[in-house]
Amino acid sequence: MTAVVPAQSPAENQAENEAQEQGRAQERARTPASALALELAAAGRLPAFVYDLAELDAHVRSVRAALGDVELYYAVKANPDPELLRVLSSHVDGFEVASGGELAHVRASYPDKPVALGGPGKTDEELVSEVTRLHVESTGELRRLLASGRAADVLLRVNLDLPVEGASLAMGGGATPFGMDPAAIDECLDLLSTQDTVRLRGIHAHLASGLDAPRMLELAAAILEYARGLGVTEINLGGGMAVSYTDPERRFDWHAYGRGLAELRRPGEVLRVEPGRSLTVYCGRYVTRVIDVKRVHGELFAVVAGGTHHIRTPATKGHNQPLVDGAPGEPVTIVGQLCTPKDVLARRVPISLERGDVVEFTMAGAYAWNISHHSFLMHPEPGFHYIGG
Ligand SMILES: *Cc1c(COP(=O)(O)O)cnc(C)c1O
Repeated sequence: MTAVVPAQSPAENQAENEAQEQGRAQERARTPASALALELAAAGRLPAFVYDLAELDAHVRSVRAALGDVELYYAVKANPDPELLRVLSSHVDGFEVASGGELAHVRASYPDKPVALGGPGKTDEELVSEVTRLHVESTGELRRLLASGRAADVLLRVNLDLPVEGASLAMGGGATPFGMDPAAIDECLDLLSTQDTVRLRGIHAHLASGLDAPRMLELAAAILEYARGLGVTEINLGGGMAVSYTDPERRFDWHAYGRGLAELRRPGEVLRVEPGRSLTVYCGRYVTRVIDVKRVHGELFAVVAGGTHHIRTPATKGHNQPLVDGAPGEPVTIVGQLCTPKDVLARRVPISLERGDVVEFTMAGAYAWNISHHSFLMHPEPGFHYIGG
């Protein structure tokens, strides 16, 4: 960590190191999440996820306010943690679920909350679930639903051929298994026109992930134009609002988005959005400690307890998971305990790390634990801790 000054006695040197450690600890302890991280480290209870529920509450409250009349559903697949759902439940209009498992999970705690069920590959059981809105993803799904004789309120999920360049994930704008192209939507409209058990409520479009507010508004305008052409008045514009892992302070402009949607909306139209990541990513931290530091072929590595089997997104997206800065130092690549070169949390971060140091990764509240391959290598699971609830 620091160069050893030869003139110092070992005792002086140790005292200085301890003072520095304390300095770092105090610096970190400024946020409640960091204070808890240090307590957990002292108690030997890392790795762990630390969720700041007060931060989540304030964030979702401001998103809700920015959206005005636009309905806000939370996409549960981003993070189904019950404590997070509890905080979210008092601000959102409903939950969007993508499986029978998520539906049961939400219903167990919120039996009266509106729920929308979407996702490709619904089983027959899932198709006939009791939900507020069913997002139909294919003509085959609609045929099976009609054959079941069950009543349902449906939105048809459309994959419009719109440019989604700049997106981090594209679910639409081309050949993907999500939703239907406009020709298949027309076929659904024909199937629906001869009966009234399955009621067409409108259109659903979740086309891309990682777009900023101006680009999302352009897509919204095109989706609305398409929906108006069909004569429907309920439009779910999906989620996918951008977050930046390279610049965590650059946040999606919810106020601009809310204002823009208010301008686009015509009287009588119900607009709905269903973000996941952009709601919960900021409230979670993944905290761990350094087990080993080594140099291999000139490159410095810090191996931490846990890894991408707890927080898979840096491996799948190939980004550096942002972290709470430590003292500056030689660039170090932070890896986990897995026996695979993909187990990288962050590459060449210019901070000093030593065995025993605590590392706090931020932006770990969405697509972290629940998207990871927990049982690979059979390491212990992390702890889960909540503050500000
Ligand atoms: C995943 C998903 C969302 C949420 O996406 P985020 O990028 O987490 O906001 C919303 N709607 C559908 C249909 C999804 O598949």
